[in-house]
Amino acid sequence: MKKYDVAIAGGGVIGGAIALELARAGLRVAVFDRQKPGQEASWASAGIISPAPENPWMIATVELAKRSAALYPEFVALVEEISGQRTGYRRKGTLEALFSRDAKAELSTIIALHHGLGLKAEPLAAEDARELEPALSDEIEAAVLRPEEASIDNRLLTAAVFEAAQRSRAEIFPASSVKGIWRDGARCRGLLLENEKVASQWIVIAAGCFSGSLEGVSVYAPVKPAKGQMIALRADDLPMERVLWSEKIYLVPRNDGRILAGATVEYVGFDKRVTAGGIERNLAGAIELAPRLKDARIEETWAGLRPDSADHLPILGPTDLDGLVMATGHFRSGILLTPVTARLIREWITEQKVSLDWERFSPLRFQNEAARIAKT
Ligand SMILES: Cc1cc2nc3c(=O)[nH]c(=O)nc-3n(C[C@H](O)[C@H](O)[C@H](O)COP(=O)(O)OP(=O)(O)OC[C@H]3O[C@@H](n4cnc5c(N)ncnc54)[C@H](O)[C@@H]3O)c2cc1C
Repeated sequence: MKKYDVAIAGGGVIGGAIALELARAGLRVAVFDRQKPGQEASWASAGIISPAPENPWMIATVELAKRSAALYPEFVALVEEISGQRTGYRRKGTLEALFSRDAKAELSTIIALHHGLGLKAEPLAAEDARELEPALSDEIEAAVLRPEEASIDNRLLTAAVFEAAQRSRAEIFPASSVKGIWRDGARCRGLLLENEKVASQWIVIAAGCFSGSLEGVSVYAPVKPAKGQMIALRADDLPMERVLWSEKIYLVPRNDGRILAGATVEYVGFDKRVTAGGIERNLAGAIELAPRLKDARIEETWAGLRPDSADHLPILGPTDLDGLVMATGHFRSGILLTPVTARLIREWITEQKVSLDWERFSPLRFQNEAARIAKT
């Protein structure tokens, strides 16, 4: 029987980064993925690294997100150095364009919200925004510049993370489907694969939106897939430095000249088909924000499945089974939250304490909620 200090179910960027951290801490680590690692959400993502909350429920993740964004430069440096590969990290800021007639009032609310959360944000007049980003529409009324935000090529990052993990002696097992956890009373002893058991002192579940399908795990990780459709465009002579946002769309320039436009959020089960409606929505939003994109070539379309939890917050930390730890439910922020997730899981496994309050993200919160509902 294979024996490890840590067995990780799921080889997305989260599982890979945790493997890298723990292998570097000297532990014997293995990652099991049912396919080649890094082919699901971590491949499909847009790779925006923005701790600014897109909606009210994300306010609960801002401290976690700020810590992760702050860890990014050293995380990227480490991954690139060990792997010998580039990740396409771009710390060029993001710019959110406002179209509404009430843009001035909206602008001061947004700026106040950001400053209240300790996030850097500057108000910009429409003409100043267009000077920075000439691709922007003439119709915008104002903009918010978040100068410290970044983006990364998540496909390159994930590949580099796995290369770095392997070079740090983590063992990676592709085509190794995990059926569930190997439970013995109140202890988790390892993972159950199709035809074998893997023994491990610690077991980390990082199977993205598939985590809840593993036997014995759904109670801790009630996650569901939130489909996102994306388009990659290529436009000649259309400079774009920063990630651009509007209410309808984001545009993410890559180092290779592509501009990604996305993304839809659809609850349609485990369906990754690209649809006419999804493309229409993305193209309409992209062309409204940067009208010259109407002449761009469409280079690629795809869809991926974000791991969304019942309260849209990540699911991180120990469970009530000895040895079993969750690292999933990162929904729309898994790339952003990769460095902090890997750091916290490593701290828990090696020291049984963490450097940031993660109680809010406990995998046990769903049981508490179920117990509360049962009592009332
Ligand atoms: C369109 C889109 C845009 C996004 N944009 C952003 C963004 O701009 N910024 C951001 O921070 N986040 C973004 N996200 C979210 C982010 O991509 C995810 O939160 C993150 O990639 C989740 O990583 P993961 O490793 O948990 O899951 P995944 O990458 O989905 O990996 C899960 C892995 O588990 C494996 N697996 C599944 N079942 C089993 C099994 N039974 N046995 C073994 N292995 C199994 C899968 O094969 C897969 O490799 C976006 C997501 C999408 C889809």
